[in-house]
Amino acid sequence: MSSAPVPGFGRAKKALGQHFLHEPAYIERIVDAVSPRPGDRLVEIGPGQGALTLPLLRRHGTLTVIEFDRDLVAPLTRAAAGHGSLEVINRDVLEVDFTALAGGGPPLRVVGNLPYNISSPILFHMLDHAAAVADMHFMLQKEVVERMAAGPGSKAYGRLSVMLQAGCLVMPLFEVPPEAFRPPPKVDSAVVRLAPRPPGEAGIQDPARFSAVVRAAFGQRRKTLRNALAGLCGPEQFEAACIAPGTRAEQVPVEGFVRLANAACPD
Ligand code: SAM
Repeated sequence: MSSAPVPGFGRAKKALGQHFLHEPAYIERIVDAVSPRPGDRLVEIGPGQGALTLPLLRRHGTLTVIEFDRDLVAPLTRAAAGHGSLEVINRDVLEVDFTALAGGGPPLRVVGNLPYNISSPILFHMLDHAAAVADMHFMLQKEVVERMAAGPGSKAYGRLSVMLQAGCLVMPLFEVPPEAFRPPPKVDSAVVRLAPRPPGEAGIQDPARFSAVVRAAFGQRRKTLRNALAGLCGPEQFEAACIAPGTRAEQVPVEGFVRLANAACPD
């Protein structure tokens, strides 16, 4: 399905998750939430037809954007002329090395109305580069934002909640209805701010082990941790972590997973 094109741009491509924001009030709220400051290094993921790009550029003067759709590069560059200095990286965001992009300069402030079909891979990719990032403002499916921010005991709490909250402060900001986009998505949306925690703050000794424990725990979320983590954590690890082996993953707070993963680390 595609929507009528904006002059100078082609039709929206469903396969690329193209739902273009057009409602000025929401565009302004996102730009205000980012509130770029002099010296910030701003990067936008998926600029599309420039709904956020042009206001950000006008406000900040310089912006790097990462857009996979080659057909959008020329019209976007034309639309940006005269508004500031726009660098366009025509690549799959999942292949972009954000640490190299920051290049030892100021940490990046990343913005994006993300393609919903690959939002989780993008979030995990950004976690891998969190040390190079100051903050992120993302529009996502509302249900994904709820999962990101959920606490233990809630149905929405899962692997995404634990991994993101271990790496970042997760702050849901506001909701956005389907009518604010062209074409409208079938779901409600929400904007969230992510602020990476200082390296080491969560106390994770081995990130790969932490990730494996969380993945296994929620891979079979109805099982007790004793069963879900068989082979990864034995009775000594549960005792060292002060977690009852009969607990289910959805009841364990982020710090509990950190203790379990650390206890499972070889000395
Ligand atoms: N920022 C625009 C707006 O708010 O109107 C467009 C948002 S649209 C939801 C998502 C954008 O991400 C599209 O421009 C799409 O082409 C782009 N995109 C999709 N997959 C991508 C990928 N793997 N890497 C980079 N950009 C991608």
